[in-house]
Amino acid sequence: MILCKTYTVRRLLLTTSKTYTRTVSTSNTESSSNDGQIKQKYDVIIAGGGMVGCTLACAIGKNSLLSHLKVLLLEGSPQQKYELKPEYSNRVVALSQNTKSLMSSLDIWQHIENARLQPVRHMQVWDASSDALISFNSADIMDDDVAYIVENDLLLHAVNKELTSTDIKNVNIVYGAKISGYELSKHEASSNNIVKMNNGDTYSCQLLIGADGANSAVRNAMGVQNLSWNYDHMGVVATLHLAEETENTTAWQRWLPTGPVALLPLDSKRSSLVWSTTVEHAKRLLKLPEEQFVDELNDALWKHYPHSSAVQACTAWFGSCLKSFGLPDGAARQLPPSIESVVPASRAGFPLGFGHSTRYIAPGVALVGDAAHRVHPLAGQGVNLGFGDVKDLTEFLADAIYMGLDITHDSWLQKYETSRQRHNVPTQIAVDALYRLYTVDLPPVVLVRSLGTQLTNALQPIKKLIMSHATT
Ligand SMILES: Cc1cc2nc3c(=O)[nH]c(=O)nc-3n(C[C@H](O)[C@H](O)[C@H](O)COP(=O)(O)OP(=O)(O)OC[C@H]3O[C@@H](n4cnc5c(N)ncnc54)[C@H](O)[C@@H]3O)c2cc1C
Repeated sequence: MILCKTYTVRRLLLTTSKTYTRTVSTSNTESSSNDGQIKQKYDVIIAGGGMVGCTLACAIGKNSLLSHLKVLLLEGSPQQKYELKPEYSNRVVALSQNTKSLMSSLDIWQHIENARLQPVRHMQVWDASSDALISFNSADIMDDDVAYIVENDLLLHAVNKELTSTDIKNVNIVYGAKISGYELSKHEASSNNIVKMNNGDTYSCQLLIGADGANSAVRNAMGVQNLSWNYDHMGVVATLHLAEETENTTAWQRWLPTGPVALLPLDSKRSSLVWSTTVEHAKRLLKLPEEQFVDELNDALWKHYPHSSAVQACTAWFGSCLKSFGLPDGAARQLPPSIESVVPASRAGFPLGFGHSTRYIAPGVALVGDAAHRVHPLAGQGVNLGFGDVKDLTEFLADAIYMGLDITHDSWLQKYETSRQRHNVPTQIAVDALYRLYTVDLPPVVLVRSLGTQLTNALQPIKKLIMSHATT
């Protein structure tokens, strides 16, 4: 039988045999005779150690009401060694203020700040098919930064740094974990879920948490309905060098007839690209020589697309009405940066899709992150929704313990599901609607969305409302 042979005990707290934190790297190249049906019991098993699963393990480990729970985090990929390189990674996320608060409360934010992040203080979103534009200025709207751009691998490293710190004594991590299946308990009263590994090991737990991403095997084992579809689009990402050095704290997004192209600031001369476009176009973009790719990207940001004269006339008239009421007409716009070059080998493409699990819970099971919900990245919400799940689930589990209840108590898991679906589902619907509204190029649709954009841009309270939903 193939078994993990190489393991590094990061830190063994020898005070009691039950409270320890260790990091185990598994290797399937060596086998051991001392393997077999090692059955270990845990209170909580988290399947999936991506950004959301790791943060959840950290949140449980740091919560004084939950730190007695024995937690196992199972991650399928091998343990990554992180090194802060001069060039930025091509995978970044825009983190909201709420995510920052969560990360700060878990002492993770300091590790990110000590490495690098870029605040977003302005946002400009504009339509290529009309003159409509919406801009957000952090100073006017929320007295704080709109978001922070952080590389995925840096974020994961920061979470892991804290997860393996001396403060956390109850979390075991297994990397390279190959899960062969789940046997889920059907009883609400005394749940006992079984996790079977490819190497023959089995683990049991009271509460199984699926943090295993959009194709979640935990969700499949729950047998719940998952409403999902693929957009006929791919997200092309890349790291870009800008033609001019600026403060670079603006996030830009232009809606092209083929989908949105966005630039997220990294530092004074670099930005990260997320270009959502048709699969065919994305594949071509990924193959283009670097210079041609840069030309095509500059076209996407700057080129004048044909405008319908009727739409033009209506938006101009509506703009003058707004102006006559003393409201911004959207005519003042910042010019986007020009791209000088793309970092070699930084281009990559990702399929984009929608997913909504109709249930986030089953007896003794809960889903978090992309396992429960998947959104188009056009609004930068995906992982922020997942971190919202982490915050709420940790709080509800702690509440259950405080009330003297079991962590799998149905009513507390139910509270988690209700609270998260109330927030996540409207966000998912809004993001999907925006995607659909902006990928249609028929003049009546362009007109309706342009007037809506102009009105939203003019009304500060609506902009505040949008921002407050996006950051909670
Ligand atoms: C192009 C693009 C841009 C994006 N930009 C943003 C943004 O700006 N802001 C934002 O909030 N979101 C953004 N997102 C979304 C964000 O990346 C996801 O929401 C986020 O990665 C989900 O994290 P997760 O931990 O839930 O899932 P994942 O990142 O999918 O992690 C799941 C983990 O589970 C592990 N796993 C899976 N199956 C098993 C198994 N059987 N056993 C053990 N381990 C397993 C995987 O190895 C992985 O580590 C973007 C997405 C894309 C594609």
